[in-house]
Amino acid sequence: MNGDTVDIDLARTWVQAIAAAVDKHKDHLTQLDSAIGDADHGTNMHRGFSAATTALADFAPDTVGAVLVKTGTTLISSVGGASGPLYGGAFRAMGKALDTPTTDTQRFAAALAAGLESIQKLGAAAPGDKTMIDAYAPALAAFQQQAGAGGDLAAAALAAADAAEDGMRATTPLQARKGRASYLGARSIGHQDPGATSTALVFRALAETVGAR
Ligand code: ADP
Ligand code: MG
Repeated sequence: MNGDTVDIDLARTWVQAIAAAVDKHKDHLTQLDSAIGDADHGTNMHRGFSAATTALADFAPDTVGAVLVKTGTTLISSVGGASGPLYGGAFRAMGKALDTPTTDTQRFAAALAAGLESIQKLGAAAPGDKTMIDAYAPALAAFQQQAGAGGDLAAAALAAADAAEDGMRATTPLQARKGRASYLGARSIGHQDPGATSTALVFRALAETVGAR
């Protein structure tokens, strides 16, 4: 396997790394959601990704995409909040774009784009609405830029993780226009978005998984 290959094992390890990160940051995610939502984002993410790792443990996928479709389906069926269908749909869309046992950085970039498209289709949020999209969209742009410039998977994933964290921090001064936080109107200003924060964990987990092999 060269440094540009995504295989089934890497996909599974990525999902496990997300679960570990969510476990570690569960209270923080819930705390962020208690300020501008209903204080369940940490619990939702934890329930979903724990269920996903359990589902993957006795699953024999034959493609990279099967790992991600299974993850998405499990998130949809185990998480009640808005984030379950949004992340679940994104992982399913990514998976559907990766129907081979291995894939490269360019195709992985296209799969990440399909994931964002799914979130936007379902949630109808735009950049600047103070949602997970404000971390995802810059992460995708950074990944695509690196991949397009001939960067390998590790470089692209690292750039994406950094961009996601910048995007996450940039949600603080925004007023929410989608999801529960939008009910608060101007009172949502001054708080970091929980979903953008979990999206930053998803991309950091990818960078760490790729960097560790
Ligand atoms: P709920 O809002 O149902 O309690 P969670 O607390 O698990 O669900 O997730 C909240 C996060 O979901 C928000 O911080 C935001 O990032 C994201 N979110 C909510 N609505 C949308 C939407 N329409 N599009 C994209 N992301 C959204
Ligand atoms: Mg919530």
